[in-house]
Amino acid sequence: MTARQRKKRLKLKKARVWGPFILFLLMSVFLTAIIAISVSAFIQYALDSKLSGIVDTGTKMVTAIDEGGSKDALSAYSANYFITDKDNSITELVGVNTCETKDGDTLRSSEHGNLKYKLYSDTESESILDETDEDLGLNLRSLFGYIESYLKDHDSINFFTTNISTETNGVSPLIDIPVWISMDIGDSGRTLYYKGTVSININYVFSMIKIIAAIAIIYLIVFILMLINLIVNVIAQKKMRRRLLTDEITGGGNRLFFFYKSGQILCKRSNAKKRYAVLSIEFVKYLNYCVCHSIAEGDALLRGINSAILSQLGKKDIVSRFDSADFAVLINVADENDLNTRTDKLLSLLEDVSDDHKLDFHIGIYMIGAEQDKSSGGIKRKYIDPEECYNNARTARNVLLDNDSSGKAMFDEKLVEEQKWIDAVLEHQQAALEREEFAVYYQPKYDPRTNTLRGAEALIRWQSPELGFITPYRFIPIFEKNGFITEIDHYMLAHAARDQKRWLDQGKSCVPISVNISRAHFIEEDLAEQIRDIIDAEGAPHELIELELTESAFFDDKKMMIETISRLKSYGFTISMDDFGSGYSSLNSLKDMPLDVLKLDAEFFRGESQDGRDRIVVAEAIRLARSLNMRTVAEGVEVKEQVDFLAEQECDMIQGYYYAKPMPRDEFEERLS
Ligand code: C2E
Ligand code: CA
Ligand code: CA
Repeated sequence: MTARQRKKRLKLKKARVWGPFILFLLMSVFLTAIIAISVSAFIQYALDSKLSGIVDTGTKMVTAIDEGGSKDALSAYSANYFITDKDNSITELVGVNTCETKDGDTLRSSEHGNLKYKLYSDTESESILDETDEDLGLNLRSLFGYIESYLKDHDSINFFTTNISTETNGVSPLIDIPVWISMDIGDSGRTLYYKGTVSININYVFSMIKIIAAIAIIYLIVFILMLINLIVNVIAQKKMRRRLLTDEITGGGNRLFFFYKSGQILCKRSNAKKRYAVLSIEFVKYLNYCVCHSIAEGDALLRGINSAILSQLGKKDIVSRFDSADFAVLINVADENDLNTRTDKLLSLLEDVSDDHKLDFHIGIYMIGAEQDKSSGGIKRKYIDPEECYNNARTARNVLLDNDSSGKAMFDEKLVEEQKWIDAVLEHQQAALEREEFAVYYQPKYDPRTNTLRGAEALIRWQSPELGFITPYRFIPIFEKNGFITEIDHYMLAHAARDQKRWLDQGKSCVPISVNISRAHFIEEDLAEQIRDIIDAEGAPHELIELELTESAFFDDKKMMIETISRLKSYGFTISMDDFGSGYSSLNSLKDMPLDVLKLDAEFFRGESQDGRDRIVVAEAIRLARSLNMRTVAEGVEVKEQVDFLAEQECDMIQGYYYAKPMPRDEFEERLS
């Protein structure tokens, strides 16, 4: 998995709704702070300007005292004041002394140029002023206390509707809050204390409260909207994620869920010591099942399979439907034995998942060992790619493709190599045919009694510029599977016939050349005519061409086979049964087929002779062939004793390394002359 894909998958995990919300919160805090700072600066300014009037009065009183002004003149400035001497004793008192002069009760000591004053609370009224770090603050609780009692005294005034002013309705909009101020009287050591009034206009307070409330309400609304948006988004994302990861048919996980979840489990550090197996489970004949039943029943079956697998899983194991009837499973296993028992159990459970059928399943298995345990497939957790793991399990399952019945297969690195090879062959086959990269090799057949050349078999070799020199065992089985083998048969027939024609024209004494005809070819009704036309196109005489049919081909459509063989014979071709005795019981075919040559399989001449039994079989096979008017060719003969024995038994020909290996055309040509 690339880093990009990993990131993409991780994104699934993260909700993307918190970003704007957090941004909004931060902005709110920032704005609130700015508003708070501005409001406090404004209050500070307002209080200072309110105080300046009172301080002004004090200055005037001090001047008047200095100038020896009368009590009456002074009380015009303030109804309550007193003067203390050097010893702090009151020398003169007018009105009532309600000044809070004890230590610590000073609200403020201020020194602005020449002007010095101290501020005190009034003992009989609550102070709305607080001192904070030399600055005056507003004590909101007591301010609201004042407002409350003001409103009590003025029934007609309403926060929401009244717009009072002294001019219009005669009600004072001012709330008076008493404060005491002290000032030194020159250098005499005497001090003047007097009571002043801070007046706050109720209209300003109302406006202030309204503005702040409006801002707060706007904030609250935006906040609630954001919150609703957040909740809606979270729900939508959750829904979307569920839909994204859920399989529409089974209701369980889908392929994305499998990769996402298994990635989380497999790459987790704390799981590094655990062993896991990734399974690819396929219901083999799902399409047939749907054809015979219905898509709805097919879906129901898939749900049944999903539940059956689920019932066998541990708490942290997972299953997902990958596609069609292919399920991906991740299980935590103790060891290989555990894996075997669990997969066997799963397989037998799945086979019985339908009430009226026994179903067949293929399980491909890929083991992931503990991280340290490299010998048993352990790899570093961070390098684990769930996609690759699943693909490996699928590759293992691919081995079972041709099996109709249930089975399981373990992944092996060789399987990948094999698949890559098959792909390479498929990629190059057509071009190879067009560029004539297939070479015809000839393996001579000798009469063991006279040691003379009696025939040859044309065998294919692939000289590929891309893939190198390739022997038929590596590509013929692939061509047989994909049908390309029929092209090869035509190619070989044409080339063998062309060579024969050339040799004849050169005056060489030609021997019959046998060409292999694959089993796949026999489904074509006009095969005999196709072969005849190919040979005729090259101009080679029919009697110099022999056709080798493998023994297994005789089991397909017997009637058609007999027909084709009869027609081929009528055109003058010789027919031989290849690989006789290689595994299929073919005595029956011998009975029915009008064959000319019997090729004894190389297996007869392999291994140690066990008390001569194989010799008896070979001798009897030659005898049987002769009784049926057939010639015999012994294949794969490598040692002299076998040659002598076969000569003794009057075997007609030997094709084996003892005489010669398959050889290029030019080399074979020399043997002809
Ligand atoms: P086959 O038709 O049974 O061919 C005989 C194989 O046995 C040849 O292998 C040959 O090289 C090998 N052989 C012969 N004598 C000896 C011996 O003494 N010792 C040993 N160890 N081997 C011996 P080759 O050429 O590799 O071909 C393998 C198979 O590939 C053939 O088996 C045939 O089934 C298929 N094949 C080869 N060429 C063609 C072709 O042109 N068309 C088709 N349809 N199949 C072909
Ligand atoms: Ca052959
Ligand atoms: Ca053979």
